Amino acid sequence: MVPNDAPLRLILDGTALVSNWRWLSDKAGVPAGAAVKADGYGLGAREVSRRLAEAGCRDFFVATWAEADALGSLPFGAALSVLHGVREEDMAAALASRARPVLNTPAMVARWKAAAPGRPCDVMVDTGMNRLGLSIAEAASGLLDGLEIDLLMSHLACGDEPASAMNEQQRVRFADVASRVGAQRYSLANSAGACLGPDYGFDLVRPGVGLYGGLPRAEAAGHIAQVVRIEAQILQVRDVPAGDTVGYGATFTVGGATRIAILNLGYADGYLRAFAGHGLALHEGVACPLAGRVSMDLIAVDIGKAPVEEGGWLEIAYQLESTAAATGLSQYELLTGLGSRYQRGWTD
Ligand SMILES: *Cc1c(COP(=O)(O)O)cnc(C)c1O
Repeated sequence: MVPNDAPLRLILDGTALVSNWRWLSDKAGVPAGAAVKADGYGLGAREVSRRLAEAGCRDFFVATWAEADALGSLPFGAALSVLHGVREEDMAAALASRARPVLNTPAMVARWKAAAPGRPCDVMVDTGMNRLGLSIAEAASGLLDGLEIDLLMSHLACGDEPASAMNEQQRVRFADVASRVGAQRYSLANSAGACLGPDYGFDLVRPGVGLYGGLPRAEAAGHIAQVVRIEAQILQVRDVPAGDTVGYGATFTVGGATRIAILNLGYADGYLRAFAGHGLALHEGVACPLAGRVSMDLIAVDIGKAPVEEGGWLEIAYQLESTAAATGLSQYELLTGLGSRYQRGWTD
């Protein structure tokens, strides 16, 4: 059981989640599914999926069969696809699951044809990223004949690049494969691809990071709302005289005598060393800068004269786009690194 009095809170905005999902779908002009792998990018896959399914989302994507299992059953008959497909070791789980595998290799295709003839699957075709997927030649070779393909998909390598010729190249290649391989539906775009508009929509878009408040492309600025807020509790307040140092490595020397608050937040919560020199806690809008390095499970912030006490709470600045720019961590890293120690609560 998760105690509901954890010293670290993730406050999640369900209205923002659903409005991000709607905006991405509207922008692409087609229905949007949801990538909920990596535990819903750190937010909690079950709660994310339930909320999006209630809003009308019917296609969900996880990476592995363990993630499919952890998600449990989805409401409203929503469908689940397992992006990494079926290794031999996955077959028992796959056959017992209602989820569809995404077949990525000729061996996976053969495995599925032999073990589950006629049972629906999805197929990934690589159009230039060289990550997972069949080559275009393999996909068009007759290898897929006899499969019941629900979703034929591909994935953009540079969707989030401001101007990349590769997007158009992949779109043209995908349209070509789509004309040659029969499937119920076709899908190319992730969050960034959805921002590229209806040309990239095909029948379905598959946003992940944008649902959770990540800004996939400049076009989404002002439309994608932050979903995550962090609050950490103050374990100790100490008066530190000028000239003393704070934390591991003694990298931070106090200029003038000040008050330092010690908070429950550290590496296991996604708060990495990259925050040194950039991290900020907030007390009623007043900035309390991170003092020195993260010290494993704890950070120290300079609260100056802010009227906060032991047991009180501070917000941790975590606006995804600016935090990514300051720390050099990606918005994906900032989200998926949020660990299991937060008490996750939704505001609606
Ligand atoms: C993770 C993933 C997505 C979602 O990507 P975002 O960039 O987070 O929107 C879509 N499709 C596939 C195949 C993925 O692996």
